[in-house]
Amino acid sequence: MQHKGKEQKNLVKKKEKVNNMTFENTTDIVEKTARQWLKDRGISLMDIADLVYFLQKRYHPDLKMETCLYNVEKVLAKREVQNAIITGIHLDTLAEKGQLEEPLLTMLRTDEGLYGVDEVLAFSIVNVYGSIGFTNYGYIDKMKPGILKKLNNKTSGRCHTFLDDIIGAIAAAASSRLAHQAKDAE
Ligand SMILES: [Mg+2]
Repeated sequence: MQHKGKEQKNLVKKKEKVNNMTFENTTDIVEKTARQWLKDRGISLMDIADLVYFLQKRYHPDLKMETCLYNVEKVLAKREVQNAIITGIHLDTLAEKGQLEEPLLTMLRTDEGLYGVDEVLAFSIVNVYGSIGFTNYGYIDKMKPGILKKLNNKTSGRCHTFLDDIIGAIAAAASSRLAHQAKDAE
């Protein structure tokens, strides 16, 4: 009984915390959560920077990894990107645990080709630095270099239906940013 009372108190506390959330403090929580969940899913920012390097190397012969990484950081600082990350990763992990209803569960677990919502969510990231992001996204999605190849391995028992598109989209957006900045510097 005592245990139940404690649970009740915790629930009330939790509710109060949620009710007291303002835009400012959720902003911080959303960014921290997005970064942590990427890490938990085995993605390092270096993995994404590698993809940016892959996309931009031929246009910028002197391209440095630190420039790629810097642009990935800038993309990750955007709220719409963080929102897409936590939404997609959460759906992937729920699918992995079997905690979604059918027919959604099977569609996510099998990464069904006709589902398509994973790509639509990724477009909200691709868009943040203009339309050249779309070209980069299409290209990287087709080539699947580096970490994307790993995420696409269907035998791992993990569900990365959303994550592969999200990572490709972050790299595409970071590439667009890098390209725009290089153009501005000319
Ligand atoms: Mg996908």
